[in-house]
Amino acid sequence: MDLSQQNIMYLPGIGPKKAEILKKEIEVASWEDILFYFPYKYIDRSKIFKIREIDGTMPFIQLKGKIRNYEFLGEGSGRRLTAVFYDDTGTIELVWFRMLKQIPDLYKIGTEYILFGKPTIFGHRINIAHPELETENKFYEGEVGVQGQYNTTEKMKNAFLHSRAIQKIITQILENLKTPLTETLSEDIIEKAHLIGLDEAIRNIHFPKSASELRKAQYRLKFEELFYLQINILQVTKYREKRLGGFRFTKVGDYFNNFYHRNLPFELTNAQKRVIREIRQDVNTGRQMNRLLQGDVGSGKTLVALLALLLALDNGFQGAIMAPTEILANQHYETIQSLVAGLNIEVALLTGSTKKKQRTVMLPRIKSGEIQILVGTHALIEDTVAFGHLGLIVVDEQHRFGVAQRAKLWEKNTIPPHVLVMTATPIPRTLAMTIYGDLDVSVIDELPPGRKPVKTYHVYDAKRGQLYESVRKQLREGRQVYIVYPLIEESEKVDLQNLMEGFENTKKIFPEYRVCMIHGKMKAAEKEAQMQKFVAGETQIMVATTVIEVGVNVPNASVMIIENAERFGLSQLHQLRGRVGRGAKQSMCILLTRYELSENTRKRLSIMTETNDGFVIAEEDLKLRGPGDIDGTQQSGIAFNLKIANLAHDGQILSLARDLASEILEEDPFLEKPFHAILKNRLDKLNRQRRTGWFMIS
Ligand code: ADP
Ligand code: MG
Repeated sequence: MDLSQQNIMYLPGIGPKKAEILKKEIEVASWEDILFYFPYKYIDRSKIFKIREIDGTMPFIQLKGKIRNYEFLGEGSGRRLTAVFYDDTGTIELVWFRMLKQIPDLYKIGTEYILFGKPTIFGHRINIAHPELETENKFYEGEVGVQGQYNTTEKMKNAFLHSRAIQKIITQILENLKTPLTETLSEDIIEKAHLIGLDEAIRNIHFPKSASELRKAQYRLKFEELFYLQINILQVTKYREKRLGGFRFTKVGDYFNNFYHRNLPFELTNAQKRVIREIRQDVNTGRQMNRLLQGDVGSGKTLVALLALLLALDNGFQGAIMAPTEILANQHYETIQSLVAGLNIEVALLTGSTKKKQRTVMLPRIKSGEIQILVGTHALIEDTVAFGHLGLIVVDEQHRFGVAQRAKLWEKNTIPPHVLVMTATPIPRTLAMTIYGDLDVSVIDELPPGRKPVKTYHVYDAKRGQLYESVRKQLREGRQVYIVYPLIEESEKVDLQNLMEGFENTKKIFPEYRVCMIHGKMKAAEKEAQMQKFVAGETQIMVATTVIEVGVNVPNASVMIIENAERFGLSQLHQLRGRVGRGAKQSMCILLTRYELSENTRKRLSIMTETNDGFVIAEEDLKLRGPGDIDGTQQSGIAFNLKIANLAHDGQILSLARDLASEILEEDPFLEKPFHAILKNRLDKLNRQRRTGWFMIS
């Protein structure tokens, strides 16, 4: 029986309305879908607490007792239903905000129930909102201690599709099955990875017989998930290597050498040299280079990019460098212009705000190859832009440039240009393997000499006065200062207002200095003008939102104050901090927050004050937030929706999955051998189910 063809709608108690909600809310439509809808946590339901034992800090718990009476309270949106629940040790209040009318019919006064819910402190009392209640005989039907809890949404709950209802659907399906579930991994893999079978795993993930059975089930299902992900990624790589050739840059010529020996303003760091070597090898293999260059902010990636571009030029090709914002594109343009001065290299800038007239002149010169290095924003991969012979494209700050866009480059050319993707957001190894698994990785793990690590302090709002005095001292010494405000879409109005007030206040606090402002809502030209004032030192203080986050380089700016630092994520704070500490002077970064902070926030802030190491921060970020939130996974265009594996914790399983996947593909790249049929079928099916078939693009 193909479970993906069995609609859950026809199960007793479901019907079209509930089926539609399940489809909409959690994308569950078939028997297979719901069997692969795993619990997000497990609770030991063998323990029943006494009311006397309860405090407000407990997780979900169980009580056994009766409802004494109901009472309707409040008006309008504050209207609610409360009940007194009691056992032989005391009473506790239950409260409902929805479905007030039905509840008293559903749960009878005087009947003994097993109650399941989370106690919370409300005012000075403890209550339990929207508890689940079951009569005892119903409750023990076929259930043991450890029980799965399923994620449900508000809409699901309103339709009585709470965790327990999901569990019941799954019970029904498993009872209905006449034969075991069809295996989805081949025998040799099951053996090599020491896995239990699918049928056993699915049954135990939903209804664990014991903690150890549960662990085996989790291991098997995590492995399977990561294995197919790796198969996909590795196939893209194989495919590209097989089908698509790459330009050969065999020569190191005058452009490279002249720049290196005449124009290079300083000695390269060892890390920079190593990466250049890696790139040189890579572009001389006859295969297309797809390399991710990771290097912390200020590690000197631009220079590496330029050297790679010069290599392209030496071999008769054009090069392009693409930045995520106009400000950054402008800055790259200027940096590169000045670095290659006197070398007779034609550099041009193309962004969204390039005038039509200029564009018309530029396009034919790009086509003819006259323009040798084109710097720009996304505008430069638009369809109207045709290169004569583009050999290398450098993409700065990759988290805005996903696999889909890279695929576009492959599409456009019979032989695709080499691609160098640069990022200062260090992607933890496990994550890099998973989402950017088709890229080779180079790392610049060394800062240019003489840099002093930024000193970071966490300061409460109440201490502002003192802070401003020490900032004034810095200003007097000729330093420049950033003051950063959060601005997020959801609270845009309030945030903008805060920013404006901050701007006005700053002018009042530092009347002897000039202040400029920059935020995402400004026109590009306006932003640029403000930025230029700051770069030129005409203004000493810049009030800004996170638009300054990426790549901006003002070495004289040595102080950064981050307002409402509690509202920023770790990676973002680190990125922001990277704007200072670029000159020879000691820099500092001040994280301003209110006094009351959650534990998680305190942890973030203390990590920031303790370390400057981007990799440590990225790992911590992954642990604190989970991979779904990492900058860029959303925009990366990758179907990246793990059901059970957790990249922060399952690194070992991932490595094993990757090794086995790569072993198999080594021998049978397209899974054509009969004993891989089981894998091929499953893979095809997963790919059909996925809405974005990115791996098919190439
Ligand atoms: P990022 O890696 O953040 O893009 P940049 O390329 O902007 O860093 O470099 C930061 C600063 O360091 C620039 O001012 C650059 O000129 C300087 N720099 C780069 N490489 C070196 C080096 N080897 N020695 C000294 N300074 C360097
Ligand atoms: Mg940079």
